[in-house]
Amino acid sequence: MNRKVIIIGSGPAGLTAALYTARANLNPLVFEGSQPGGQLTITTDVENFPGFPNGIMGPELMELFRDQAKRFGAECYFEHVTKVDFSKKPYSVWVGDKNYKAESIIIATGATAKMLGLESEKELMGFGVSACATCDGFFFKDKKVLVVGGGDSAMEEANYLTKFASEVVIVHRRDEFRASKIMIDRAMNNPKIRVLWNSSVQDIFGSQEKGVHAVKIKKTDSDESFEEDCDGIFMAIGHKPNTDLFNDLLDMDENGYLVTKNDSTLTNIDGIFACGDVQDHVYRQAITAAGSGCMSAIDAERYLESSSE
Ligand code: NAP
Repeated sequence: MNRKVIIIGSGPAGLTAALYTARANLNPLVFEGSQPGGQLTITTDVENFPGFPNGIMGPELMELFRDQAKRFGAECYFEHVTKVDFSKKPYSVWVGDKNYKAESIIIATGATAKMLGLESEKELMGFGVSACATCDGFFFKDKKVLVVGGGDSAMEEANYLTKFASEVVIVHRRDEFRASKIMIDRAMNNPKIRVLWNSSVQDIFGSQEKGVHAVKIKKTDSDESFEEDCDGIFMAIGHKPNTDLFNDLLDMDENGYLVTKNDSTLTNIDGIFACGDVQDHVYRQAITAAGSGCMSAIDAERYLESSSE
């Protein structure tokens, strides 16, 4: 059966697109991907989503998004899209061997946490190395942990980890943070947090049996290197857009973000729309992602109307 709309991704952008297209009677099919609910499911308190004056937990907010979209008929599947073909209409989407066709596609695949790229980081991932304080912070009760990065994510992760850890050390490669003032102030006023400035992590020491016990730090403003003891290390160094599926198919910028036409969610292919973090490297907020998800639904609805005339 040909669908009117298939939505790939289920963060604030994808599920808002699902809500709007469902209410427009377009019966959207949502492929949720490997992390249903997207990045908000690995955050804690969301304090800046309007309508929740006391804040709300990220996973709970995404449950509400999903329930609201389903109420109007959106079908959400916990499936990961493995291939697409946008060369002819209807467009094709595969989940393994299963093929789905739709007249329009909304891409809301978001972005994924970046890692340092060390061998030891890969080997010890889940054994003392993490990119998600919400998921793993609990395992570091009364322990010392490091957080790598100098943006809002690093501040947020560091603050959150102080709920469990006895000490949190932020390791930053420069001598100033890029995070917003309010987030920096909160971290700097937390007595459990200190900072290693001008420092980069070169190696992580530990084993899958015993976890992490130290890292090698190299100063970025001198030749000095030293070992810093710790029980865990959290990466908070930004994100990469999830666009591998669309290589050579859709226009991307130099960092791999999908390019959309000014003031719209239109990509370079008619009937293919992109919304949320996969096309936004500037704002990257739940509320802006939701806003662009709404735009993509309206763009898709108008496209479907005009192509059926
Ligand atoms: P970001 O702003 O891009 O910051 C990444 C940080 O990691 C930077 O400090 C960067 O250092 C450092 N870094 C990058 N690659 C590195 C490497 N290979 N080795 C060592 N350090 C590295 O990313 P983000 O903190 O994830 O934030 C992304 C966006 O989400 C921002 O717009 C942010 O405002 C937003 N956000 C908001 C909230 C909130 O408001 N509650 C929470 C989280 C995120 P340099 O500074 O030297 O480049």
